[in-house]
Amino acid sequence: MVLEKLGESLKGTISKIARSMFVSDKLINELVKDIQRALLQSDVNVKLVFSLTQKIKDRIKNEETPKGLSKKEHLINIVYEELVRFLGEEKKEIKVEKGRDEPFIIMLVGLFGSGKTTTSGKLAKYYSNRGFKVALVGLDVHRPAAMDQIEQIGKSLGVRTFTNKEEKDALRIWHSFKESLKGFDLVIVDTAGRDALSDDLIREIEDVNKAISPGERLLVISADLGQAAQSQAEQFHKSCGITGIIATKMDGTAKAGGALSACAVTQAPIKFIGVGEKSDDLEQFSPKGFVGRLLGMGDLEALLDKAKGAIDEEEAQDLGKRFLKGDFNLIDLYEQMEAMNKMGPLTKLIDMIPGFGGMKIPKEALQVQEGKLKRWKFIMASLTKEELEEPEMIDKSRSERIAKGSGASLGEVRELIKQYRQAKKMMRMLKGKDPEKMMKKMGGKLPGMFK
Ligand code: GDP
Ligand code: MG
Repeated sequence: MVLEKLGESLKGTISKIARSMFVSDKLINELVKDIQRALLQSDVNVKLVFSLTQKIKDRIKNEETPKGLSKKEHLINIVYEELVRFLGEEKKEIKVEKGRDEPFIIMLVGLFGSGKTTTSGKLAKYYSNRGFKVALVGLDVHRPAAMDQIEQIGKSLGVRTFTNKEEKDALRIWHSFKESLKGFDLVIVDTAGRDALSDDLIREIEDVNKAISPGERLLVISADLGQAAQSQAEQFHKSCGITGIIATKMDGTAKAGGALSACAVTQAPIKFIGVGEKSDDLEQFSPKGFVGRLLGMGDLEALLDKAKGAIDEEEAQDLGKRFLKGDFNLIDLYEQMEAMNKMGPLTKLIDMIPGFGGMKIPKEALQVQEGKLKRWKFIMASLTKEELEEPEMIDKSRSERIAKGSGASLGEVRELIKQYRQAKKMMRMLKGKDPEKMMKKMGGKLPGMFK
């Protein structure tokens, strides 16, 4: 998980509160020390850390415990709320729309190696999975291999990619493609970087900016900079007017907390985080969900957002609900497995399910290769409606009939049923890990924490 260490410390702190008998000054001091230590270890700026913990202390001291909350719950809620504020508060979504006359343009800027080109591909996948018509445009005219890189990324994703290896003038390249880009919903523009934010880079970004007037100018910045991200983000903000930030390489650094908090200070919201090298390793950033996950409360929002990419929105809502209720049949299982395959590795998703973070569950429970899925589709076609809705009724003689009818072996039919049972068991575990129940165990519910 991203920020594993920070998460562990904070989770430890929260459970310390939950375990304690009552809220004493000693507990509050310990809590504040724990949070300070955890954040400093994650390379958060000392001043920021102290102003955050001061705020927490002040609120605990001055605020009355709201009706219906215990003192402990109130304390956890304050920690949660202040950490959310610390990371930028509200999620600010990018407004891409389908079927407009002019495409929405996202321009990525940043230094060499920050992950611009990789992130262009990730964004292209993110939005095309959600049904948008996406095009990539390569305007990095400085790096010799840049055009090949983005072409390759576009090809592997099946996304139209516009490049020109001969032309060395970014603006000319842009104008030559402008007409062809009209049919797309979203155009993602990858630009050239430099070693540092030099005058000529600023000029180039300004020129490109003027020519393409993007809806979003996103700074791609590597999280391994830790708190040093602040000056870079501020410089870019001042000279290029960035509208948001994508923090990459969150997976490979213990300093991510420093980077995130540093970016939050600049007033340019973090829109996405990069959590790996693969095209799926991009998450929309929401301070609420992120802090919830850090504190071990799961991030249902992020999970549902992932699900949206694989299936449409209504289905996603439904899937989420049924998933959590542990209430589903074979058809649902099939749809879920298909969706899960599209969503990427299950292990990453598990972190996002409330109460599931860090829990060990059989990976095979929902992940199945595509070949097998196809076979199962045949098997399912041979099932009666009743059998599909109530797989438990499939006994030996039914299994034999199904095997014959679908051309599958008896073993395959059994395997499918077994998979269903396994998934159902997992769902039940999940049901037991219901966030509200979990919070009750910790001493009551926390209103507003789970929407
Ligand atoms: P650019 O110069 O800004 O275009 O950077 P690139 O997109 O070429 O990326 C530089 C390196 O960072 C590549 O090796 C990427 O695979 C790697 N990278 C980018 N984003 C991430 C991320 O979120 N996590 C990890 N681990 N590596 C990343
Ligand atoms: Mg690049």
